[in-house]
Amino acid sequence: MHELSIALNIVDGVLEELDRQKSGHVEAVHLRLGRLSGVDKDALSFSYGVACEGTPLANSRLLIEDVEVAIFCPVCGVERPTRSFPVLICANCGALGERVLRGEELEITAMELVT
Ligand SMILES: [Zn+2]
Repeated sequence: MHELSIALNIVDGVLEELDRQKSGHVEAVHLRLGRLSGVDKDALSFSYGVACEGTPLANSRLLIEDVEVAIFCPVCGVERPTRSFPVLICANCGALGERVLRGEELEITAMELVT
């Protein structure tokens, strides 16, 4: 399962940070997740719980912030949202997006540690 390997990666990253901080317990992990990341949010939440079992992250919360997709529209000349997948069309004028500016994120933005 794709999401489980991602969850394990997140847990690994947090454990490394715990090591550096000499902190023993994690309350919550904040994650930014783009809609184009290909990750299913519910599956990731579930997998995170599984991946945390038996680690200092057990019972911590994974707080996922959705990142909407934005493209650069060559017609509008600015960043625009898009709601069409997989073809990324400007929500304003309907032109094909030139490149993706946001929406591919999968990154830990913050951790709440208890010392
Ligand atoms: Zn446009």
